[in-house]
Amino acid sequence: MSTSIQQDILTKIETHLEAAYPNEACGFLLGSQIRKNRIITHLIEVENRSTENQRRRFVIDPLDYMKAERFAAKEGLTLLGIYHSHPDHPPIPSVHDLEYAQQFFSYFIHRIAAGKMTDSRSYRLLDGKFIEEKFTILNLKEQIQL
Ligand code: ZN
Repeated sequence: MSTSIQQDILTKIETHLEAAYPNEACGFLLGSQIRKNRIITHLIEVENRSTENQRRRFVIDPLDYMKAERFAAKEGLTLLGIYHSHPDHPPIPSVHDLEYAQQFFSYFIHRIAAGKMTDSRSYRLLDGKFIEEKFTILNLKEQIQL
């Protein structure tokens, strides 16, 4: 099992999450999966619909899920996960994150400290618990070799 993300996608995540700071922001991760190896090549920014504290919570509208599924089907991509920020908090899943987590998805969590992205980690749900998954960052040269 391996997870890779393109450098340009990570840069887009950084730009999105830093712009939303001090609020939490989120989006979908898309790409391809061959056997157990996944590569993230696209993202969709999503509006945080939380009506509570947007600095500590994110909520994705079911309609945004549907739109993302539709986009994936149209482009021949697979919905592989969700990214979100933890403003001034460690990139460790919260109880709320666990409650809404689903199988299969990679959950990328990014620490934004004083407005700058400082740490990125990914987690997968296994037997009802989050397990950290290692991921590889692919630069453009490596993408061409694939
Ligand atoms: Zn979280």
